[in-house]
Amino acid sequence: MNYRHAFHAGNPADVMKHAILALLMTRLTAKPAPFAVLDTHAGIGRYDLTGDEATRTGESALGIQRLLQAAEAGTLDAAAAEALAPYLDAVRAAAGQPAGPVSAYPGSPCLARTFLRENDRLILAELHPEDAQTLKGVFRGDRQVAVHHMDGWTALKAHLPPKEKRGLVLIDPPFEAADDFDRLVAGLALAHSRWPTGIYALWYPIKDRAVSWRLHQRLEDSGIPKILASELTWNDDARMDRLNGSGMILVNPPWQLDETLGQMLPALHEALGFTQGIAHVEWVAGEHIA
Ligand code: SAM
Repeated sequence: MNYRHAFHAGNPADVMKHAILALLMTRLTAKPAPFAVLDTHAGIGRYDLTGDEATRTGESALGIQRLLQAAEAGTLDAAAAEALAPYLDAVRAAAGQPAGPVSAYPGSPCLARTFLRENDRLILAELHPEDAQTLKGVFRGDRQVAVHHMDGWTALKAHLPPKEKRGLVLIDPPFEAADDFDRLVAGLALAHSRWPTGIYALWYPIKDRAVSWRLHQRLEDSGIPKILASELTWNDDARMDRLNGSGMILVNPPWQLDETLGQMLPALHEALGFTQGIAHVEWVAGEHIA
């Protein structure tokens, strides 16, 4: 387990993932019934952007800091600004900095936590022993958050379906192992068989386009009925040994989220100053397929 998210916190991939997560959380809070969120690969919860790891890579400068700057300068169009507002508000609140660059960044656990109402729950799994301890420290005494030092794939079996019967599962593995794409497809199939009505958000890296297309094909073949794929890329395909972009698979996405993402992701691409790559949203399976 070599992957440490602290080197990458707030980078463009995080921005895309967390902006979508915030939208999903907002939609869940639109109805009064309580919900549960399971985050299978939770990380340490929040990140110090002034710390050694973050400053060594400087990745947040190309991600969240650029986006905050664009939002403050008022260069986002109205629809994108509205779609990104829950995310940016949560980032600012977590950092406690109402303007300018932020020195701390909420990972998926802290981001999700900001949206919980008093009867909603957050279940976190993290396998790295030190990271799991750090995460436990972040949520110590919080009765709405359960932190488990456990394998995220096992957490899918252990914690689904939640008793609330409403909610979201975020699956965000580090993709260190060659078989992480296999595990992603198998994990989703298992989770969906246990809880077909849950919302699922699965992050994946885009390096080699053929791998992403194969993933989409396998998901289509899985027979899961409602799958939306969203992608944001910032490099062309010339090199496959680097992160060229980032993808989120959404199973059972809330109504009209495809349209919202269709507005938000191109705006993100522009706001982050990318001159290559694209923003793309398509149904992999579902009645909206063209
Ligand atoms: N979801 C976090 C966020 O958005 O802030 C980032 C997670 S990071 C990409 C992946 C995390 O998964 C790392 O903290 C790593 O230690 C953890 N991890 C690796 N293998 C795991 C496994 N089998 N089960 C649970 N966690 C695992």
